[in-house]
Amino acid sequence: MSGLTTVVIGGASGIGEATAAALEAAGHTVVVADLNAPDGAITVDVADEDSVAALFDRVLAEQGGFTGVVNCAGVSTLAPVVEHDAAEFRRVIDVNLTGAFLVVKHAGQRIADGGAIVSLSSLNARQPGTGMVAYCSAKAGMVMLTEVAALELGGRGIRVNAVSPGLVVTPLTAPAMDIPGVRDGYLENTPLGRSGEPSEIAALIRFLLSDDAAWITGENIDINGGAHLQ
Ligand code: NAD
Repeated sequence: MSGLTTVVIGGASGIGEATAAALEAAGHTVVVADLNAPDGAITVDVADEDSVAALFDRVLAEQGGFTGVVNCAGVSTLAPVVEHDAAEFRRVIDVNLTGAFLVVKHAGQRIADGGAIVSLSSLNARQPGTGMVAYCSAKAGMVMLTEVAALELGGRGIRVNAVSPGLVVTPLTAPAMDIPGVRDGYLENTPLGRSGEPSEIAALIRFLLSDDAAWITGENIDINGGAHLQ
């Protein structure tokens, strides 16, 4: 293995797709993995431990190792707490939180010493969203997952960080944009007055994977046009 080899999970769409492109432009060898994998990508289900282990074993075998992992896999659902279907709650937790745990666990076992892992949390880790109890709970859990993993993996020089975007219009969030008032309500509470671009999140992730971030670990960085201030 020479240079930087980074696995982008959830890399077939939205923020993950933009991140894969940004990392490629920065000289990384990029391996894209996703539940819905396009040609040239690897199929993975982050909620399935065997699938996650097999992904990283395959990357080891095919690339000789890897130095970075970005976990962009994510799903959401909309339902009030008192009406929330328990199976649906578990599904969102399974993909977003247990999935992030499985990625950090199996990447942590195999990643090169000195490597870096970035997980996608959310503004909703700190700011509750009506109808988003499963998503908010999972994203809040990812922040502590990141801190514990950073504490434990620091001895091998491995950095573990999270990024927490505010609204970025992607296939994940597009359906909510059709609900009257949602987009305008969000933008009213955003000092910079606009939603973010996938490429802006990708630039932060690229930074966190680079040597310029060599002393940053266990952090969760907000990137939301100031929406966390309201
Ligand atoms: P997206 O829907 O465009 O991309 C998510 C990707 O995850 C898809 O390609 C999907 O196939 C993949 N995926 C879903 N379930 C999976 C599974 N079980 N295993 C593997 N892959 C799976 O969404 P996005 O907006 O680009 O979101 C990327 C990440 O950023 C998510 O974790 C999301 O929660 C987070 N995030 C997004 C926003 C936003 O406003 N878009 C804000 C904050 C956080």
